[in-house]
Amino acid sequence: MDSLDGIILTVFAILVIIYYKLEAIKSILYDETEESLGAVSASGSRDITTVIEENDKNYIVFYGSQTGTAEDYAKMFAKELVGKFSLKVMCADLENFDFETLNELPKNCLVSFFISTYGEGDFPDSAVPFEEFLLGLDESELPLNRLRFTMFGLGNSTYEFFNNAAKKATKNMVNSGAKLIGPLGQGDDGAATTDEDYLAWKENILEDIKDALALQEHEQIYEPSFEYDVLIGNDVQIDTVSLGEPSKQYLPCNTLPFSKQLNVQTGPFNQHFPYLAPIVKSKELFGANAGRSCIHAEFDISGSNIKYSTGDHLAVWPSNSNESVKQFLSAFNLDEDEMFRLKPLDSTVQVPFVVPTTIGAAVRYYLEITGPISRQFFNALIQFAPNNEIRQKLSTLSKDKELFAEKITSKCYNIADAILHLSDHKPWSTVPFEFLIESVPLLKPRYYSISSSSSSEKQTVHITAIVERNIVKDPLSPVHNTYGITTNLIKHIEFTQNFEDNNRDQSEISFNLDGPRDLFQDFKLPVFVRRSTFKLPSNPKTPVIMIGPGTGIAPFRGFVRERVKFLELQKDSNVELGKHLLFYGCRNEDDYLYQEEWPEYATALGDSFQMFVGFSRDPNSKKKYVQYLLEEQKEQVVTLLKEGAFIYVCGDAKGMAQDVHTTLVKIVSEGMSITDTEAIDMLKMFKTSGKYQEDVW
Ligand code: FAD
Repeated sequence: MDSLDGIILTVFAILVIIYYKLEAIKSILYDETEESLGAVSASGSRDITTVIEENDKNYIVFYGSQTGTAEDYAKMFAKELVGKFSLKVMCADLENFDFETLNELPKNCLVSFFISTYGEGDFPDSAVPFEEFLLGLDESELPLNRLRFTMFGLGNSTYEFFNNAAKKATKNMVNSGAKLIGPLGQGDDGAATTDEDYLAWKENILEDIKDALALQEHEQIYEPSFEYDVLIGNDVQIDTVSLGEPSKQYLPCNTLPFSKQLNVQTGPFNQHFPYLAPIVKSKELFGANAGRSCIHAEFDISGSNIKYSTGDHLAVWPSNSNESVKQFLSAFNLDEDEMFRLKPLDSTVQVPFVVPTTIGAAVRYYLEITGPISRQFFNALIQFAPNNEIRQKLSTLSKDKELFAEKITSKCYNIADAILHLSDHKPWSTVPFEFLIESVPLLKPRYYSISSSSSSEKQTVHITAIVERNIVKDPLSPVHNTYGITTNLIKHIEFTQNFEDNNRDQSEISFNLDGPRDLFQDFKLPVFVRRSTFKLPSNPKTPVIMIGPGTGIAPFRGFVRERVKFLELQKDSNVELGKHLLFYGCRNEDDYLYQEEWPEYATALGDSFQMFVGFSRDPNSKKKYVQYLLEEQKEQVVTLLKEGAFIYVCGDAKGMAQDVHTTLVKIVSEGMSITDTEAIDMLKMFKTSGKYQEDVW
């Protein structure tokens, strides 16, 4: 064997080792996903018709969900189909199936889809394979001519491509011969009407489904999807019981076989397996007179193998406050120490969180107990009303949209507030906890636009979070205080981290910062990075126009730091940056975010950077929103657009993004001497080609 052979053999041996390592990693990942999501079919099949037949189901509710909202609605809908019509429903994530036999489902098996739209009209990540399946169909052969389906889309009308994913899927299926039952439902988060949009759609669609399947309706009865087993001390080894751990890997016993264990330090981390990242630095960004709070928080990701790139989002899991947990437990007369296990009644049902666990842990870490309450939930509660009077009240309120809005929504009641209000503050002991597990939405992570740059801060991720709270000052007001869970938790961390004297404001709520089994000590929170398409142009010479009022400034701090770092690295090569304009708006000096940093960036970037700031509530200056600033710079904006500038908008989706768009239409039509319609088309084309990007919420 000569030396060349030796080299070839060595290379071959290395390749074999790499191959097996990759396979091992893949199998760990695959097994872990299966484990955390629960089995879909007893046989392990992904074929939709096989799974339906194996499990003797006659109805499918599919969801394609990016943040979990479409999943919540799908589950509610499925529960109602079971409760009212005794249908045998499978409710499942689109990502768990192959669809080649979608047209071969048993006769009379109807399919309901709940699909959210994400980003610029995109399908949620988990529904992309379904989208690809639809795109691959040969429509001329009508390959879905036996399929009957309903569709409810979840979207935001402030976006250009409102409910695009649901519309596109519907069009593709109909063109392939499938029959759409009833109208396509469209939930609109932009108008904050998703719940009422869903209820209005559902009312009609249930009638259509009843007709299509010749169903008999009966009074809604709750049929559990799980067997709920109460455990006593001897039944269970205590280190297998979750006290709120974000995934099984964090249990002291780590119940997974060694081959399936992911490393709690090095991941890979995702929404099923978040990383516990410590907040190593935090500070209040608003001045003392702002009357509000905005926190800058830095998460340390060193050693975790987590990579992010500038413009990505950080997902942060909250836990409920001590006060809301206590109130919820007492409202439903629940024993927080009760240990339980959930056993799915068939293999298509997935256990929603780590079990066995305790009621206290489930309420604190797994259920969304504080948000606004839905009419649908009231309707489902009727069967568990503690007495006839309350049953009657629930029934009236759940049927009357206006009355519900007046008596419940406008008071900002959460679930516990609402039921205690109906029962004159007497606890309800009649509601089974398994019903609450299935009916209260699961606690979801919140997303934050990362405000650091991956070039300058590789090991820390910065976020900029405005603390959401509405404190009602009038003690006689029937309206309740409301608190955003995540941002108040982050505020609580900032306060505890920075002030030894923990003398808290009376209006604040408190949290257990230590977490389950002290896992969150040292200010750790469960996080993962979600990739975003909100990215600077790869060519640094391309001009950039950034518009971000309020916390919309967050990703632009990252962008600007990215460009500063770029210049630092290129300092000897005389590279020139394109022009970077930043339009920022806030109320006044007190809430001017990162005010002390911008002059440093301006010095580093020189002429290539210009920032325009407007105040909307400053007694000493004229009210100025970002779109006014933009208008003031219209000549420069048009010149840069002609040079190929990219436009970025970040922040409030409701008013600002639309106002900015309208202003841009005006600037472009005037500056380029074209009609408004032509300007609209041009900006639309910019959006489609990624030259006009929005990161709005
Ligand atoms: P939640 O608990 O979700 O509450 C939301 C609101 O509901 C609060 O105002 C709360 O007071 C109110 N509320 C609570 N209970 C009730 C009730 N019973 N009735 C009526 N109202 C009630 N935010 C930022 O600050 N910075 C960012 O950079 C940022 N980037 C984002 C990027 C993306 C892609 C997205 C989708 C969102 C982003 N957000 C950002 C928003 C952020 O994700 C959260 O929505 C926000 O921080 C509130 O979260 P929370 O858990 O504190 O509030």
